[in-house]
Amino acid sequence: MNLMMMILLMETMMNRDIMIQAGFSKEVARVDAGLCPTCDEEVGPFKDDLSRKEYGISGMCQTCQNMLFDSEIGEDY
Ligand SMILES: [Zn+2]
Repeated sequence: MNLMMMILLMETMMNRDIMIQAGFSKEVARVDAGLCPTCDEEVGPFKDDLSRKEYGISGMCQTCQNMLFDSEIGEDY
């Protein structure tokens, strides 16, 4: 494992603790189980790499990502 990976992993673990402390332990558990934290359904398949990347950040499934980004007018990466 290289340094970059270690830093990324540590940041993820920290966020996880913050999430759990903030009362999102159920959501964290769902992401761990491969389920969408928003709708409780299995995530994927994803339509493109962008969606897969977003899943890596928020853990949300394609359907929930669609709903989120459809409602954000002018949002662009
Ligand atoms: Zn979902």
